[in-house]
Amino acid sequence: MGDWDEFVGEEWVRPNVALAPRTTYKVGGPARWLATPRNLDDLGLVGRAVVEAGVPVVVLGRGSNVVVADDGFDGVVVCLAEGFGQVRWEGTRAVAGAAVALPRLARAAVERGRLGLEFFVGIPGSVGGAVHQNAGCHGRETKDVLVSASVWDLRQGVMTERSVEDLELSYRHSNLADHEVVVDASFQTTPGDPGEGERLMREITRWRREHQPGGTLNAGSVFKNPPGDAAGRIIDAAGLKGLRRGRVYVSERHANFFVAEPGATATEIWELVREVARRVEDRTGIVLEPEIRFVGAFEEER
Ligand SMILES: Cc1cc2nc3c(=O)[nH]c(=O)nc-3n(C[C@H](O)[C@H](O)[C@H](O)COP(=O)(O)OP(=O)(O)OC[C@H]3O[C@@H](n4cnc5c(N)ncnc54)[C@H](O)[C@@H]3O)c2cc1C
Repeated sequence: MGDWDEFVGEEWVRPNVALAPRTTYKVGGPARWLATPRNLDDLGLVGRAVVEAGVPVVVLGRGSNVVVADDGFDGVVVCLAEGFGQVRWEGTRAVAGAAVALPRLARAAVERGRLGLEFFVGIPGSVGGAVHQNAGCHGRETKDVLVSASVWDLRQGVMTERSVEDLELSYRHSNLADHEVVVDASFQTTPGDPGEGERLMREITRWRREHQPGGTLNAGSVFKNPPGDAAGRIIDAAGLKGLRRGRVYVSERHANFFVAEPGATATEIWELVREVARRVEDRTGIVLEPEIRFVGAFEEER
């Protein structure tokens, strides 16, 4: 892997690291290299090496919206270390490192009497992942509260400040490329009663417990909702609850959640996703688009 091999000596870059434990599905193979940069200098080194060695790169947050291929990822996976896990306040704005867990950000804001980020309590991702996916729930999306994000371009070695418009955030979408790493993000909050924020967070948590298959291996909603409809309703109406491929099945509780049993493979998830999409299209003409991201090589690309 050319120049990349020079990084073996760095303790924050390791070869052949299992990715399954870093994802909520707990499936898939290793990263050829896992880089856990602690600061911007480390990110600069990763970027230069990636460019010189010409290897593919992908960023991993808390792995709550990805499926890693059984053969793993034949390139560099960048996973920001704790150095990117701080929250600081600038007036009513929370500036959160990209590695900060969204529920932690929601609670920290409410404790401070800063409201507006409560919806993040139900999303088990990171700030970086939320910006990349424009994560949202309960009527709110990241773009409603995001002021801007600092983005490090691994190829150019430069940082830019991107607004919601620059990022082209829309339903579960941004224009960020794989070599662009969200480093931190600034969120607007409103001063308010912490009790009110706590009530809303409790309500969101209760709703999720009732409507989602908690305590199982999944990555949240598998498909995006088509305009004016819900993917879960469509899959349910097509009679596909309980459909399975190996050790992966469509949840009985929420048809847009596909649950993996211990020992499941990424291929089984991939096959179930394709099968459900195929049957829904056959029956309704609706083409469902995956919300979860497949990282590495899956059948069509082999
Ligand atoms: C039980 C459960 C419930 C969920 N509920 C919701 C919900 O209500 N609403 C919702 O929107 N999502 C939901 N999700 C999905 C997921 O939590 C979100 O998409 C979240 O934003 C992903 O963040 P992550 O850090 O886990 O990203 P990952 O899964 O690690 O990565 C997702 C994508 O973001 C990119 N990425 C991650 N970090 C960075 C970074 N620092 N810079 C650039 N790119 C980055 C990755 O390359 C990848 O393309 C749910 C997931 C689960 C398991």
